[in-house]
Amino acid sequence: MRIILLGPPGAGKGTQGELLQQKFQVPQIATGDMLRRAVREETRLGKEAQKYMQAGQLVPDEIIIGVVRERLAAPDCLQGYILDGFPRTVVQADALEQVLTALHTPLDAVVSIEVPEEELIRRLSGRWTCPQCEEIYHQERHPPRHPGVCDRCGTQLVQREDDRPETVKQRLAVYTEQTAPLKAYYRQRGLLREIDGLGSKEEVFRRICQAMGDIP
Ligand code: AMP
Repeated sequence: MRIILLGPPGAGKGTQGELLQQKFQVPQIATGDMLRRAVREETRLGKEAQKYMQAGQLVPDEIIIGVVRERLAAPDCLQGYILDGFPRTVVQADALEQVLTALHTPLDAVVSIEVPEEELIRRLSGRWTCPQCEEIYHQERHPPRHPGVCDRCGTQLVQREDDRPETVKQRLAVYTEQTAPLKAYYRQRGLLREIDGLGSKEEVFRRICQAMGDIP
């Protein structure tokens, strides 16, 4: 099963990607998580990516395409994957299409999670993340059991630098300009499934599964 999750920051791609990963038993490939790990580990990629991420800009296409190409070649991707946060530009989508054509591994679906902007801002401004295991919390809707501490691994939670209000606005603008056009790109290819992203994570997941009902 090869699925792309599209949607603006805060739409719930990470959460739904995790549920899809469990359902289909294929890895979730979240480029934002990969880049944040590289920044933490101060690798060359991390040092290069950090300045773009802090500014709410996209990392240059040639950098992220190289990272994803290498990841998709790993043995755990043979049965498929959930792409979360990639592609984000038409150039990235074209590069992915080339890789998939060469491997004879077509996509099964592109799921676009739709959430109004006011709700995205509410979600992102209350979001706290575990810098260790990437678990996500919300101060009102999904607080950790012990304030400020990750339920899963006990690490101190942080607010992502790019979840601050000025950067959130920039990321939403980047989504509208550079990533939203991918909906038309995949609609043309008959792959797009648009999903209402409001409601509980279980409700949204049910909608995604229903929309993919025609997939064996
Ligand atoms: P995310 O966690 O998916 O919101 O990604 C966080 C940040 O990582 C983005 O704002 C970008 O700076 C960078 N990033 C993640 N995925 C991509 C991508 N496919 N292309 C370019 N930049 C990306």
